[in-house]
Amino acid sequence: MKLGNTLIEKGQKWQGELKVTDHYSIPIYGICGEEEGKTLVITAGVHGCEYVGVQTARKLWKSLNPREMKGQVILLPLVNQYGFYEGAKQIVPEDGENLNRVFPGKSDGTLTQRIAYVIEKEIYPHADFLIDLHGGDCNEAMEPLVFFPVAAKSLVNEISRGAASYLPVTYRVSSTAKNGLYSYATQKGIPALLLEIGGEVLYHTTALGIKKGDPLIAYGAY
Ligand SMILES: [Zn+2]
Repeated sequence: MKLGNTLIEKGQKWQGELKVTDHYSIPIYGICGEEEGKTLVITAGVHGCEYVGVQTARKLWKSLNPREMKGQVILLPLVNQYGFYEGAKQIVPEDGENLNRVFPGKSDGTLTQRIAYVIEKEIYPHADFLIDLHGGDCNEAMEPLVFFPVAAKSLVNEISRGAASYLPVTYRVSSTAKNGLYSYATQKGIPALLLEIGGEVLYHTTALGIKKGDPLIAYGAY
């Protein structure tokens, strides 16, 4: 798998940075399985105070063994770093925009628009499926839910909805959104979901390793 100028060999893991501007890069992790297969892209931290997805992506990176894998996984564990470190709800504090509302971005726009542009140009082309992990913001009490697209082409809608049916969430919500990280991907023909697990800074154990019908347990503060 080639990410930017880096070739990741089969059976290897790689950590690098996805350059957005001279002053802003997004951490990117690539895992290339021993066998050929499809590519799953997982993004997290689009909203900086939604910590469950960020931690989930980090744990997934540690737990995946490329020698036992078929296909590739690309992880962007913290897309909105300024939002994370400044504790800013919903927005990229640099320009006050919500990254999940600015797709498609602009190569010469605000930082938020540039992040969207780089994700579309550099990450979407790899994706056979994309999941954007959200976690209910720090001021939101939220039941675990998944958004699946209904405004994309029918095959994209169908594949996305099929994947959503396996998630043990309280609600599955149809979405006509088109301008977010995952929803714009669906407009570009990539099946995708937005998963919300967490909220009020609570940590749900089932963000990963989930099976249909598993109970959802929140334990302690993260
Ligand atoms: Zn969010």
